[in-house]
Amino acid sequence: MLVATTVSEVRQALAKRERPLGMVPTMGALHEGHLALVRKARSENATVVVTIFVNPTQFAPHEDFDNYPRDLERDRRTLEAEGTDVVFAPSSEEMYPPGFDSGVEVGRIGQVLEGQFRPGHFRGVATVVLKLFHICGPDRAYFGQKDGQQYSVLRKLVEDLNLEVELVPVPTVRESDGLALSSRNIFLGTEERRAARIINQALSAARQLWESGVKDADRLRQHTRDILLREPLVSQIDYVSLADARTVEELEVVERQAILSTAVKIGSTRLIDNVIL
Ligand code: AMP
Repeated sequence: MLVATTVSEVRQALAKRERPLGMVPTMGALHEGHLALVRKARSENATVVVTIFVNPTQFAPHEDFDNYPRDLERDRRTLEAEGTDVVFAPSSEEMYPPGFDSGVEVGRIGQVLEGQFRPGHFRGVATVVLKLFHICGPDRAYFGQKDGQQYSVLRKLVEDLNLEVELVPVPTVRESDGLALSSRNIFLGTEERRAARIINQALSAARQLWESGVKDADRLRQHTRDILLREPLVSQIDYVSLADARTVEELEVVERQAILSTAVKIGSTRLIDNVIL
């Protein structure tokens, strides 16, 4: 497995490799959720490149960029064991040299929900993902359903800008009690970790209500909220959204594929999750 840290190194390494090329963009601190993407990429492509880059431009100033978990040596060993061909782990300066001053503007789809609570987040995501696509030139790129809005934003980016890459969604990997795996889960204390189960419980309960025939979106959102509020350690609910999975527009009635999503704080840790209806 080759670990490249510069754009020219990774380009040179990938130029000689067999196609198709599958790419898995990550911010490192890898867990089984990331590995589900790597394994799917491995099973579908001749060459697999995993990128590890904690992208400063997708964090707002007050967010956890400095504290975000990083363990490149452990990630390297994990990826080697998964049969990864190339890792691209650039520095911030490599991706954003002095004077860097361009960006990908995402429209309405990137300004609601996560975009509303994390201003500039999806501009940062779209910019870095477009850069990584141009640097690595993948045939396929793998993204987790865990970040549901991110997937919708990137699908729109690929369509709007005619990118020649196939996006492959991968279902969310969860702990045995339903909590979605996330690099941020390590910030949860013991009691908070127990309380965090409520997120998936609330989303799953609303999905059951929908399966029983309730299609009214307000009722489903309210049901989710009511269950979240039963947990005293839920200190903040940023949103409960029931939106069209493609456009991320809020629905009144669930008639086509929809995504029920929420962002909550457990103590001071902000977690997101979603289920597809
Ligand atoms: P991150 O390192 O958090 O930027 O995540 C990198 C990729 O892994 C993104 O496409 C995420 O959606 C995906 N991912 C993160 N957590 C999970 C999970 N629990 N299940 C599936 N995919 C995930």
